[in-house]
Amino acid sequence: MNTATLNELIPVGVSACLLGHKVRYDGGHKRSKYCLNVLSECFEFKPFCPEVSIGLSTPREPIRLVGDAESPRVLGTKDPSLDVTEPLKAYAAEVSDNNKDLCGYILMQGSPSCGMERVKVYHENGMPNVAGSGAYADEFMKRNPALPVEEEGRLNDPVLRENFITRVFVYFSWQKEVMSAPSLHEVIQFHSRHKYQLMAHSYEGYKLLGKYLATEASQLPLEEVLDTYILELMTHLKKRASRKTHTNTLMHIMGYLKRDIDTETKQDLLEAIEQYRKEEVNLVVPLALLKHYLKRFGSEYIQSQAYLDPYPHELGLRNYI
Ligand code: SF4
Repeated sequence: MNTATLNELIPVGVSACLLGHKVRYDGGHKRSKYCLNVLSECFEFKPFCPEVSIGLSTPREPIRLVGDAESPRVLGTKDPSLDVTEPLKAYAAEVSDNNKDLCGYILMQGSPSCGMERVKVYHENGMPNVAGSGAYADEFMKRNPALPVEEEGRLNDPVLRENFITRVFVYFSWQKEVMSAPSLHEVIQFHSRHKYQLMAHSYEGYKLLGKYLATEASQLPLEEVLDTYILELMTHLKKRASRKTHTNTLMHIMGYLKRDIDTETKQDLLEAIEQYRKEEVNLVVPLALLKHYLKRFGSEYIQSQAYLDPYPHELGLRNYI
């Protein structure tokens, strides 16, 4: 079975304050136990503090987003003539250009520089207006639309956490398995291994990308196919998988065993999937049973599906969804 292992650490960007660096405006940090104690087992974190990197001191005057939510300025709270919008964007461009190996990024929520979403944007008169993205994060995400990006606070949600880590491992596999020696054949092989993972997140994406590779892709320049495929795949994987979509995927996978298992075994599998659907057990339960039989009776194709082992089982993410 194609088991993701902890053999190689995956390069992932992170807001430096989340690693305990004392770089915040007040001289403090926002140390994340989950990043440091759990994710560091599989991620090689690369810390970036945009505010310090553009030359602001620590401690420093706080900054905030002001004006139009679509394109706010980043101004000093005490001295509004301090405008660091352009330096923050330029630093995002520099980090993007110099760190092409990143396979994900974890941002500090609420920051006018690093916040991914729901960052307060103020009126000129000082009243909070709407919500937007931090200037650095916004520019970085625009330059890296396929890269998995998440806020640390949202990793407390088991579904969002599992979703983000899955995407990082898929992106890492893409870099290693396809981008190291790209060809249409490699893209098709990659898609073949990720079919059921995609199905669990987006049935529509599963259909669309399958059709794209089977029809249009061979007529298009390889560069274009690579860009389109990974962007579409990562966008569809970002959709939350639900109990309903996982149940559908489990049933499809079970279909590969039909001819080889007896009625009693089939009943056991159906019962485990139904218990999962009814929220009596978590995903790990039907999957463990299914994998047990796939190991004995499954074809090479179904055993190679990334859905079965999307990341090292030590992370235990499917014990909570
Ligand atoms: S949120 Fe970003 S800019 Fe602010 S201290 Fe943390 S790393 Fe630096």
